[in-house]
Amino acid sequence: MFRVVAGRLGMGDVLPANEEFYACPSCLMAYNRAAVIAGVLTEEHVPPKALGGRSMLLTCTQCNSISGSSFDAHAANRLDAEEFMRGTANGRVLPATFHVDGIPLRGTAQWTVDGLQLFGVPRQNDPRVQAAHLQALNAYVDSGHPNPPISFTVHTRFDEARARLSWIRAAYLAAFTALGWSYILREVMEPFRDQLRQPDAKIIPTYMLRSSSDATAERRILLVEHPDELRCVAVIFGELSVFLPGIFRPLNCEQLADAFGRCRDANDQLQVSLQGKEMPWPQWPTYFLDGPAE
Ligand SMILES: [Zn+2]
Repeated sequence: MFRVVAGRLGMGDVLPANEEFYACPSCLMAYNRAAVIAGVLTEEHVPPKALGGRSMLLTCTQCNSISGSSFDAHAANRLDAEEFMRGTANGRVLPATFHVDGIPLRGTAQWTVDGLQLFGVPRQNDPRVQAAHLQALNAYVDSGHPNPPISFTVHTRFDEARARLSWIRAAYLAAFTALGWSYILREVMEPFRDQLRQPDAKIIPTYMLRSSSDATAERRILLVEHPDELRCVAVIFGELSVFLPGIFRPLNCEQLADAFGRCRDANDQLQVSLQGKEMPWPQWPTYFLDGPAE
C-alpha cells in the first residue's frame, strides 16, 4: 500500500524495488525483510505505555526510542503532576520537599486510598537539618497551632511543548493505523513529521484541547464534518483531543489552529460540539510488509 501511494506521489524510486519491505510510518524509512528479521522494528504503544496505551503498530527502533525519551517521558511526568493535583491514587510516588518554618526535608509524596502520604527520606537529608525540621514539626503538633507554617512542593519535571508532542505523535500514529498511507503521505501531514524530527523548532501550532468528559479511558477517532470550518480528524484520548487535518479539502495546521483557537475558552475547552463519522479505535497490526514492485 505504501508503495502504491508513494508511487502516486513520485516517491516510488526510494523504495527497494524487488523485495518486500516495511516502512516506518513515523520517519518513512523503508526496511527490507532482513532488517525486519534483525529486529529493526518494535511494537509501538498508542498512546505511550506510560499514558495507558497499548500496542498498536510497528515503528522503527530509532523512532520509538527517540520519542520515548524526547516526548513520552515529558507527557508521563505531566500526567503524574496533573493526577497528583487531582488527588488520584495511581500508585505513583513523587519526589517532594517539605518545609516547616522554612526548614526543608526531602522525601516523597503519594496519594493512596487512605489519603495523602508524605515520607522523609533520611539519606537525602543532612541529619542536622532533618532533626531541626522534625523538632519544629513536633513543636507545632504539641502546641496545637491552628495554622502552622507547613508546606510541601512536589517535583516533577516536564516540558509542556514536548508533552504535547507526545500526544500529537500518538494521534498521528492512531490516524495512520486507521486511515493508512494515503492519509499520512499527503502534503498537509508533512509538517507533523518535520516537527517530530525537530522538537525544538516551532513548526506546527499546537491545537490540542480538553473536553469536559470524564471518560479518561475513552479512545476514538471522529471524522469531523460539522461545523464545516472545523472539519478535521479528531483523535480523542479521554479528555484530550488532538485535531489533525481532515480527509476532504483538508485545512492545514495553521488554518486548523486558527479555527480551533476561535472556538475555545481560557481553559482550553472546546465551546462547540463536533459531529461527524465515528471510526472504531484501530487494532494492531493493520499494516505489515509491502509487496515487491509489480
Ligand atoms: Zn522510524
